[in-house]
Amino acid sequence: MGNKTLAILKPDSVKKNYIGDIVKMILAAGFKIKGMKMIKMTPESAKLFYLVHKDRPFYNDLVEYMTSGPCVPIALEKENAVAEFRKLIGATDPAQAEEGTVRKLYAKDKAENAVHGSDSDENAAIEIAHFFSTQELV
Ligand code: UDP
Ligand code: MG
Repeated sequence: MGNKTLAILKPDSVKKNYIGDIVKMILAAGFKIKGMKMIKMTPESAKLFYLVHKDRPFYNDLVEYMTSGPCVPIALEKENAVAEFRKLIGATDPAQAEEGTVRKLYAKDKAENAVHGSDSDENAAIEIAHFFSTQELV
């Protein structure tokens, strides 16, 4: 198992001032922050980031949502990081997320769901490189 994953505090989390609370949960769960920045994604960047979903009905809305305001990508490190982080954030749809998870606490619905987490070690590496140069990873 790899030890890296990519989180994004999505635009809804930034708008609602949840950055501090969510970062606190991430650190309390034992993750180390290796890189963190605030950016506003361009449509090109968001389309590429979610290319795997290009044929899904929600793709255009997803790109619009992810470019609707600033977001906070965070490169994280922990043993078994991908699975551990997805456990911390809960199911895609907050209605199905377990109590105490980030999405249960902070997501509005299955579209505006507060946070992203990589789904495999391979994608974690690709996604971290999408946002961070090696100099930006400590
Ligand atoms: N999404 C959506 N509608 C859906 C499923 C997903 O708007 O029916 C959005 C949501 O923001 C989700 C993202 O698309 O986080 C990527 O979907 P995925 O299935 O990869 O969920 P995740 O890995 O984020 O839990
Ligand atoms: Mg996913």
